[in-house]
Amino acid sequence: MRFENTLDFAKSLDAKDVLKEYRSAFHYPQLNGKEVIYFTGNSLGLQPKNAQTYVDEIMKDWAQLAVEGHFYAKKPWWDYHERLAAPLAKVVGAKTKEVSVMNTLTVNLHFLMVSFYRPTNKRFKILCEEKAFPSDQYMLQSQAKFHGYDPKEIIVEVKKREGEHFWRTEDFIAKIDELGDELALVLLGGVNYYNGQVLDIQNITRAGKRVGAMVGWDLAHAAGNIALELHDWNVDFAAWCSYKYMNSGPGNASGVFVNERYLNRKDIPRFEGWWGTQKDKRFLMEPEFEPMPNADAWQVSNAPILSLAPYLASLQMFEEVGMTALIQKQKLLTSYLEYILTEIDKEVDSTFEIITPKDRGCQLSVFLHGEGRALFDYLMAQGVITDWREPNVIRLAPAPFYCSFEDMFEFGQILKKGILTK
Ligand SMILES: *Cc1c(COP(=O)(O)O)cnc(C)c1O
Repeated sequence: MRFENTLDFAKSLDAKDVLKEYRSAFHYPQLNGKEVIYFTGNSLGLQPKNAQTYVDEIMKDWAQLAVEGHFYAKKPWWDYHERLAAPLAKVVGAKTKEVSVMNTLTVNLHFLMVSFYRPTNKRFKILCEEKAFPSDQYMLQSQAKFHGYDPKEIIVEVKKREGEHFWRTEDFIAKIDELGDELALVLLGGVNYYNGQVLDIQNITRAGKRVGAMVGWDLAHAAGNIALELHDWNVDFAAWCSYKYMNSGPGNASGVFVNERYLNRKDIPRFEGWWGTQKDKRFLMEPEFEPMPNADAWQVSNAPILSLAPYLASLQMFEEVGMTALIQKQKLLTSYLEYILTEIDKEVDSTFEIITPKDRGCQLSVFLHGEGRALFDYLMAQGVITDWREPNVIRLAPAPFYCSFEDMFEFGQILKKGILTK
């Protein structure tokens, strides 16, 4: 498609957008009486308007039924979490039984490592990417220490090549092959939080499995953003948060994927609790743990129903729209943003360098050479909510559910003005 940097053209794309009605299904922060242009759906998604209804339902059931709500609420609480598994499985390309919702992301990665990082004298190394998200680094280091290792001796980082802003799949595979039977675990971010790169989950997983390692993925920036086929790609395990592209609300519960080959097994070590045991026996209070036949076996505590309510509300929308339509719009919207940046770049003396490679979801990370924090402050003051990383990188994530093509055009105009009037 030939893009144009005009309001009319942006509006014509909006008119054709099959998701255009979802724009009014979200709450937008306001600045100077106008809805903001929201580029930080990669950090915290906007609130779907139906979230309130779902939360109110729980509050009402709690008020009217109290403990009886566990079994007699409209959506009973004791297995409320099961309602999330089927729609979530579609988002990540899994069988329903391979998906569950529990805890928060880093907590779940720790729990999953209990099961899937089982170092031996021979096989003990962990492969991750250079400068992984800090929480993942702390998690891996503390797991290493927990098993009695010096993290420096067992954590192997795959680096970007000199002068390049992205990782190469062949470098992951070469390192996996080099570590071979010393490699216990590959744990990587599916979409990198900094440069927005989508890693080749399928081929990296294949390489890891070929040398006999476990392969897990942190999908914080991937779930609800890119096409995932976790089951078909033979991933061992994965976890993601729900408050970024999945719009479930701040700090909300995480989703997990456990490959079906690990289900129904008592020989896999897990940190266990009563919500992971067979649900028909849960209230018999017997001493023997019988794992649920699905990923719920990794559930430890009873579920935080008030958190799951807005998550379920959001999943209802993913269910209605489907990932195919969402990704289709995402590709067009991000390409349009890329085009707008290129056009504005020609009109100003600064230079923009998009460091996000073509393997991407909705995020573009951009070096604004010649600019500083003042530009970011200007954008924020004009109602463009974005995210600044020192020295001069902005991350722009136009989430397809609620960002419009007109937003991209308007952003371009504000950016240009911010640069020209400094
Ligand atoms: C956002 C993010 C997290 C956040 O972890 P929480 O446990 O939910 O606080 C972890 N890993 C990555 C890669 C992230 O982008």
